[in-house]
Amino acid sequence: QSMTTNDTIFGKIIRGEIPSKKVYEDDDVLAFHDIHPVADVHFLLIPKKYIPTLADTTAEDIAILGKMLHLAPILAREQGLTDGFRTAINTGRMGRQDVYHLHIHVFGNKPGGEPLKVMLGK
Ligand code: AMP
Repeated sequence: QSMTTNDTIFGKIIRGEIPSKKVYEDDDVLAFHDIHPVADVHFLLIPKKYIPTLADTTAEDIAILGKMLHLAPILAREQGLTDGFRTAINTGRMGRQDVYHLHIHVFGNKPGGEPLKVMLGK
């Protein structure tokens, strides 16, 4: 964690000040279930380093960004999403980001269930 205090909900989760249902944790990242799941499985993958949004990342963050994307399918599979899932990163006001600590949403329905709704027009 960096210089300024991370007063976001996710900062509090990282510090253990509020509880979360953990999916994965190591020195660099934390993953936990979203409290308002939009699919059978919905968890958030966050860096422990305080980075408010994707737009605040720098070249220094390339390794952690890569690690998060690398972990997403591994954790998704462990959570039962063996036939695909969706990832999403909301950025800033126009991206409807609510919590200003960078996070990747990973969500999907279990195999045999309904595929997610089409997100982008084709
Ligand atoms: P975003 O709109 O991309 O910033 O997403 C924030 C997400 O955090 C939403 O999907 C919320 O449901 C989720 N969320 C908010 N508070 C908590 C919490 N205490 N534990 C787990 N997820 C949370």
